[in-house]
Amino acid sequence: MRSEELFEQSKKYLVGGVNSPVRAMKPYPFFTKRGAGCRIFDEDGRSYIDYCLAYGPLILGHAYPRVVEAVKAQIENGSAYGTPTELELNFAKKVTQALPSAEMVRFVNTGTEATMGAIRLARGYTGKNKIIKIEGAFHGAHDYVLVKAGSGATTHGMPTSAGVPEDTTKNTIIVPFNDESAMENALKDEDIAALIIEPIIGNAGCIMPKDGYLKFLREATADNGTLLIFDEVITGFRLAYGGAQEHFGVLPDITTLGKILGGGLPIGAITASREIMENMAPLGKVYQAGTFNGNPLSMAAGLAALKALEDGSVYEKVNSLGDRMRKGLADITKDIGVESRIYGIASMFQMYLTGMDVVDYQTALKADKDTFLKLQQELLKNGVFFPPSQYECNFISYAHGEGEIDETLSKIEESLRSLP
Ligand SMILES: *Cc1c(COP(=O)(O)O)cnc(C)c1O
Repeated sequence: MRSEELFEQSKKYLVGGVNSPVRAMKPYPFFTKRGAGCRIFDEDGRSYIDYCLAYGPLILGHAYPRVVEAVKAQIENGSAYGTPTELELNFAKKVTQALPSAEMVRFVNTGTEATMGAIRLARGYTGKNKIIKIEGAFHGAHDYVLVKAGSGATTHGMPTSAGVPEDTTKNTIIVPFNDESAMENALKDEDIAALIIEPIIGNAGCIMPKDGYLKFLREATADNGTLLIFDEVITGFRLAYGGAQEHFGVLPDITTLGKILGGGLPIGAITASREIMENMAPLGKVYQAGTFNGNPLSMAAGLAALKALEDGSVYEKVNSLGDRMRKGLADITKDIGVESRIYGIASMFQMYLTGMDVVDYQTALKADKDTFLKLQQELLKNGVFFPPSQYECNFISYAHGEGEIDETLSKIEESLRSLP
């Protein structure tokens, strides 16, 4: 197998043969040659219906034609200038129109940079030091938030990373998701600059907020003079064009974006009201900068993607496919008698192999992650790519159709039946 050979060589030059830990798979990951629509093709001539979709960005599928055209047209004119462009202005207008809480934007290159900048901005604006983070949520791989973090950090058993100084982690307070009294307690501290939260936790599988929980957080943080940061790197342009804040009708003070925003190219963004945003340099004292911030390729790709998403027809299609998938999974597991909980919304879903409701990180950890991985491997053999962890979320794209969902469901049924 060519993937296996490439992996053997890669291990000599790339740590664990990969550039991001979530990509590690046993015995080795398939190496991708190309992607098209809802499919990804590997170096061994195999193809997979893709529900990983690069861990979230590809709501339009691989190589969406209008995004490809926009990037091709832009690169002919250069890929970085170190000066402002009209593209950034146009894209900033689009983003602020889309998100109910956004008046201004700072474009950065990754979700990690976005949350790092947003937390610094919240600290600078409030003059307070601590932040509250939800147990098992993931906000990228920087020091403030690599404490009880989900995604690959949990998959690989290092939710709190080595190399993060205690001086940093002591300012990050961890509270379980969906637990109002724990949050009330944590918010008694006067020194909390911000609560950062994924409105739906997409990095410990897919965990839904209880009814009223996000509204409670809105009120409780406002009462305490703490800023509410919605990390919408996954949910932004996924749950709805206006993200989770539009869907749930709860407006955060600061929003972080990434993934879908870049149309498949690297991106991140920090958005908030003018009053908060103007605390950033060059106007304010909170420093944030980047050589590739607002780079024209990501701007062009993102603009093309948002143009395809703004009329809402993409959401109608992907959300109904999401419903079909979730219902199918519930029916199949019930038929076979496999204990499971199926969660998700819109075009996000995850199946936990457990007989217990999953409402937070601790209940997510109780699911049978080993059997989940066996299922994931069996699915790969059958041409379906789920991310290789119980603690990731699956996504559906505009390029998927009912045919692919039904084909996937029957392969899941077959694979579940074949497991010992
Ligand atoms: C992926 C993700 C990030 C990090 O984004 P990168 O572009 O990988 O740095 C931050 N927050 C959430 C909720 C994410 O899912």
